[in-house]
Amino acid sequence: MPTAAIARPLPNAQEPLYRPYIQGLQEHKLMVQRCSSCGHWQWPPREFCFVCHRPALEWAEIGQQGSIYTYTVCYRAFHPWFKEHLPYGIVDADLGQGIRLLAPYFDPDVERLECGMIVRAAFDETDGMGTALRWTKS
Ligand SMILES: [Zn+2]
Repeated sequence: MPTAAIARPLPNAQEPLYRPYIQGLQEHKLMVQRCSSCGHWQWPPREFCFVCHRPALEWAEIGQQGSIYTYTVCYRAFHPWFKEHLPYGIVDADLGQGIRLLAPYFDPDVERLECGMIVRAAFDETDGMGTALRWTKS
């Protein structure tokens, strides 16, 4: 089956907690929660602050460059859409403020990834299905 007929798996845009994040991707921004009471930044989104337990969360833009906290290189695709990108990385990038975001890495140098390497966000439009985050070499 040609991969063009297979849609890229994306986060559930109907999940209310993730809507500001997904909207941010469409605007090429990385949005995470920040507590307006104690200032704690958090990801993944929740209905209350992990630190002070108040429901005083707002959405704030975080920087689009980070360092690789950890990664793996995939030689078998977990979903058919990813087959054309093999081998690809799954990178957990540290953006500061205690925030780490997980996203794929499709650059051809994937086998030279290292912890601490600097990556930046890239935004892929997915045929009207939404916008997807991936990491790329900075
Ligand atoms: Zn708080």
